[in-house]
Order: sequence, then C-alpha cells, then structure tokens
Amino acid sequence: MVDWVYDELVLAADLVSRNGWTGVRAGSSEARALSVLLRRGQLHEGEVLPANFRSTSSIQRKSYDLATADEKYDGKPTRGGRLDALVIGEFRANTAAMQKRATAIRGVLATGETLPAVLDDEVESREGGILEHLARRRERDPGLRSRKIQTALDAGIALSCEVCGFNFGLTYGERGEGYIEVHHVTPLHISGETVTKLDDLALLCANCHRMCHRGKWITPSAVRAAIQTA
Ligand SMILES: [Zn+2]
Ligand SMILES: [Zn+2]
Repeated sequence: MVDWVYDELVLAADLVSRNGWTGVRAGSSEARALSVLLRRGQLHEGEVLPANFRSTSSIQRKSYDLATADEKYDGKPTRGGRLDALVIGEFRANTAAMQKRATAIRGVLATGETLPAVLDDEVESREGGILEHLARRRERDPGLRSRKIQTALDAGIALSCEVCGFNFGLTYGERGEGYIEVHHVTPLHISGETVTKLDDLALLCANCHRMCHRGKWITPSAVRAAIQTA
C-alpha cells in the first residue's frame, strides 16, 4: 500500500468538497478521471507502484475516509489518518483557495511535472507539495533572482529583509554587500500562474527565509506576525 501524499489528498478532497462533502463512487466520472491522473505516478517518482495503484475503488475509499476524517479523528491516528483530517480541515476552512490549489496541481501534473523522490534541500518539505517544490525551484533561478535584485536597486530600495530589516552589507560589510535571498511569496495555487512575476518575490534574510519554508510554507507576513508574538 502506497501512502497518499498531500497533493493526492488535496485532489481527492477537492472531489469531496464538490460533492456535498461526501465521498465519490468508484464508477463516477470524477473518480475515473482522478484515477487516470494519479496512476501516472508523478507524485511517487522512483517508487514501484502496484497494479491496483489509485484504482477507482481506492479513490472511492479515500474520498469516504476524507469525508468522515474530522469526526473520526481522535487519539493517535496513523500518519495517513492525520493527513486526511488535516487536508479535509483545510478544505472546510478555506474551500475556494483549496479548490484553486487542486486546479493548479492538476494543471501542473498535466504538464508532466513530477515531485522528485529526493527533494532539493532540507528546507523543502513534503508537507507542502509539487506547487511549493516548483516555486522553490523558480526562486533559485539565477536570472529571476538577479532581475528581482536589480529592480530593487534601480528603485533605490536597500537590500534589506522585508520581514526583519536585516541587511547583509551593513552587518558583514563588503562580504555581505549585494546579498539577499529571494522568496516566492505567492505559491501557484493563489496566483494560478506558471510564470513568476517579480511582484511574487520577496527579499528576505536567510533566517526569515528558512522560517517561511520550515514545515508548512507560510508567508513573510506570517513570519513577521510570529516575531511579534514571540
Ligand atoms: Zn529577516
Ligand atoms: Zn523561499
């Protein structure tokens, strides 16, 4: 049995949310379409998948698990159970945004993108998914990075962290001059775009940047709020 990853659960929960918060039947066109999409295995790169992987009946089963996950959840569930409850909870709390996320994931999978078995560095987390992976990959694109930095410099904006104000040049002198990290503020599920706009990027110090990515992806303003609360 191959564990369902976050993105797969988002796609299944999307069907549940559009079906009056109840599970979908194996014979429905929705279950069939999701089965076809997931059976391509792009979210399980490098894994050997069984013949019945994400069959229409497994889609039905998972959709009913999701539909009842929040009521069922108490004590110490399996990891799968915990994720089920988390994802359906996210859909109940923010239905429109999560449905948008599902649409964006389907769009990305349609282009043939995969979530690699080994993520690019320890900051990347499987708690997020393929959208965060792609955003993370783009924020390291040297061209995009230098355009963002140059635009700030041209506008007379100092290269200081947008969250805490840290400035590498002021602290490290010549060694830090011109250094700043670039963060993708708006993951694809909000923008719905596959092209990164400079406005989607924030300039951050290494600490604040790491806090944005640690565990589940949060925004720079959420990091700023965390600093104020701490
Ligand atoms: Zn900072
Ligand atoms: Zn980032």
